Amino acid sequence: MFSNMMKKFRHTSIISKVTLWYTLFTSILFFIMFVVSFTVSGSWVDYLNRNELEQKTMEIASDISEFDEFDDGIYFILYNEQKEIEKGFLPKGFDQVIPFETEILSTYVTDQAKFYYIDVYNAEKQKWVRGIRVASGFNKEIGLLVLSLAVVTPVSILIMAVGGRRILKRAFLPIEEVTQLAEEITESRDYAQRVSSTYAQTNSETSRLVTVFNKMLLSVQSSFEKEKQFNQNVSHELRTPLSVILAESEFGEKYAETIAEQKESFAVINRQAKVMKNMTEQILELSKARQARETDFVNLSLSDLVSYYCKEQEKKWSDLAITFDISIAPDMMIFGDKILLLRVLDNLVSNAIKFTKTRVSISVKDFQDMAVLEVADDGIGIPVDHQEKIWDRFYQIDVARNKSVHPGVGLGLSFVKDIVTLHRAEVEIVSTKGEGSIFSVVFRKAE
Ligand code: ADP
Repeated sequence: MFSNMMKKFRHTSIISKVTLWYTLFTSILFFIMFVVSFTVSGSWVDYLNRNELEQKTMEIASDISEFDEFDDGIYFILYNEQKEIEKGFLPKGFDQVIPFETEILSTYVTDQAKFYYIDVYNAEKQKWVRGIRVASGFNKEIGLLVLSLAVVTPVSILIMAVGGRRILKRAFLPIEEVTQLAEEITESRDYAQRVSSTYAQTNSETSRLVTVFNKMLLSVQSSFEKEKQFNQNVSHELRTPLSVILAESEFGEKYAETIAEQKESFAVINRQAKVMKNMTEQILELSKARQARETDFVNLSLSDLVSYYCKEQEKKWSDLAITFDISIAPDMMIFGDKILLLRVLDNLVSNAIKFTKTRVSISVKDFQDMAVLEVADDGIGIPVDHQEKIWDRFYQIDVARNKSVHPGVGLGLSFVKDIVTLHRAEVEIVSTKGEGSIFSVVFRKAE
C-alpha cells in the first residue's frame, strides 16, 4: 500500500509534488502552532483570571461600600458573621456549604464546572466576602481568536496551495513549450521554429533555458541549411564534369572516327576526371578538418613549419617563372595542428601562384603577442564586393579567369577559413584589383 503510494507519488508532476509538499508542511505547522497557542493561552488566561479574582475580592472586602454582586465575570457574595448570605448570589452549581478559609484561593470542581473561589474576612465590619469565578480557561477574546484561526487557517492554506500551484504552473510553462517544440521538431524536422520570445524576456530561471534553446535551434538550423546547401553544391559541381565525361565517352565510342579524335575525347575525360578527383579530395579534407578537435593541438613553431613547407616546394617552384620572397621571423610559437596549418599555407600559396603576375611573398611576422602568416602576390587582385564571398563553399569569382588555366572548385578558401576558425585565429585580405592580394592569418602566440 505504502510502496504503491510512493510509486504513484514518484510519477506525479513536479508541480503537484511541490504543491503537496508545502501544503502538507504548512498545514502541520499551522496545526502545531494552533495547539501550542491554544494550550499556552488557556493556562495564561487561567492564571490572569485567578489573579484578578484574588485582587478584586481583597479590594471589595476592604471597602464593602463598593460591593458589587457581579463584576467582570466574578460573583461576589457578602456573608455575615454567621455565614449567611446578605448580598449577592452563587453561580449555578456552586455548593452553598463549602467551608470558609481565609484568603486562600481554592478550587471547587463539580461534574459540570470548575470554580475558583476565595474568602476574605473584614474584621472591622465582621463580614465575609466570597469571590467566585468559573474557571473556563477562556475568555471572549481568546474564543474569538481561536474561532478566527479555525476559519482563517484552512482558507489561507487553500489560497496558498492554489496560488502556489498557479505560480509553479506559469514558471513551468516555458519548459512545457520547449518539450513540445522539441517533439514537434523531431517529427517535422522544421528547425525554423522557435519558443515564444516572451518567455525569454521574463527574468526567471527558465528564460535562460528558452534563450539557450532558441540559440541552439538557430545554430542547428544554420548548420542543417549549410549541410543541405553543401550537398546540393557538391552534387551540382560533380554533375558538370560527369556529364562532360559521359558525353565525351559516348562520342569517343560511337562517333570518333580517327585516333586523334579519340585522343581528344580521352584528354577531355582525363581533365574532367582530374577536376572530380581534386574536388573529392578537397571535400574529404574539409570533412577531416571539421572532425579535427582542439584537444589534438600542440605547441608548435609556425616559423619552422613555414620554412619546412618552403624547402619542400623549392624544386616545384624553380620550374615556375615566379620570384618567391620568403621572410620568416624565428621562434613564432603557436598552438595548433601541423597538418591542418600546412593545408592553410598550401591553399593560400597555390592561389597566389595561380593568380600572380611576377612574384609571391611568404612571411611570418612577429607582431606583439601575435604571430602573423602572410601570403602576398602581385596578381589580378580581388574586387571588394567579392572579398566577403570568396570564403563561401564553391564560390569562385569568375570561373573563366582561372579554371581554363588551373582548375579549381571554390573550396580552398572555405577550407582555410574553417581551419583558421578552429585555431581561434583571424584571416584578413588586403587586395586591390589589378595590383595583387595579401592574405594574413593572425595567430595568438602560445604561452
Ligand atoms: P579555387 O579552388 O577556385 O581557387 P578558392 O576557395 O581557393 O577556390 O578561391 C575562391 C576564389 O577566390 C577563386 O575562385 C579566386 O577567384 C579567388 N581568389 C583566391 N585567391 C586569390 C588570389 N590570391 N588572387 C586573386 N583571386 C583569388
